[in-house]
Amino acid sequence: MAEKVWGTGSVKRFGTRYGRTTKSKFDKIEKEQRRLHKCPYCTKIKVKRQSFGIWHCQNCNSTFTSRAYTVGEKVSIVERAQQLIAETPEIKTTQEGEE
Ligand SMILES: [Zn+2]
Repeated sequence: MAEKVWGTGSVKRFGTRYGRTTKSKFDKIEKEQRRLHKCPYCTKIKVKRQSFGIWHCQNCNSTFTSRAYTVGEKVSIVERAQQLIAETPEIKTTQEGEE
């Protein structure tokens, strides 16, 4: 009987090596880099990663540079704070002043 293989998806190829936390982090990044992203030019979700920081749109055929593992837009601190508040229900309830 083979041992139970940890993880699913792409990190399964590492078997029992390298540790759970490392593989979990790696899986998160790899999922992000492999999925199709939104094109900043034609706004279609057709952008594929070619290499480190190089992205190619299959719709409008443009090749451009962005971040290494994602076509992420830079999020400002204010926007990030608003996201955090929206995600955390505890903050929301204290803000509303219910009790
Ligand atoms: Zn495009």
